[in-house]
Amino acid sequence: MIILNLLCDNGHRFEGWFASSDAFRDQQARQLVQCIHCQTSSVTQLPSAPHVRRGGVITTQDRNTPNADDASGLTVAPIAQPETAQKLFQALAVMARQAENVGDRLPEEARRIHYKEAPARNIRGIATLEETRELLDEGIMVLPAPVPPESETH
Ligand SMILES: [Zn+2]
Repeated sequence: MIILNLLCDNGHRFEGWFASSDAFRDQQARQLVQCIHCQTSSVTQLPSAPHVRRGGVITTQDRNTPNADDASGLTVAPIAQPETAQKLFQALAVMARQAENVGDRLPEEARRIHYKEAPARNIRGIATLEETRELLDEGIMVLPAPVPPESETH
């Protein structure tokens, strides 16, 4: 199946579907090709190259075409990721600033909150890697994160 751009004597442009170029020429010669607007059979094929319809499926060849419209879409996705990461870090920074600083009592305080011996709240502080592992093993959510230096002065 091919689609041809057609032009009638009255200047109407329209598309015609044909089995092949030969089929179009045959139908044109027998005046079977009519303008869809004014029904004249004085129809000529526009010089633009006929293209073969592929049923809407984008083939691998299409994707590799340098001028493919897809190219601009592909560049958007990688850009979105740093922005998402930045938002995440901003959210973490806000959480860290609002969290109560318990310093090196962090493991102890985190356990007290986890076992409901202390009011539930966000806390931050200092824990060794070993202490962090132990907390995680107990199912206590701790997030190792770099703490802004200025917040340690208070
Ligand atoms: Zn026409």
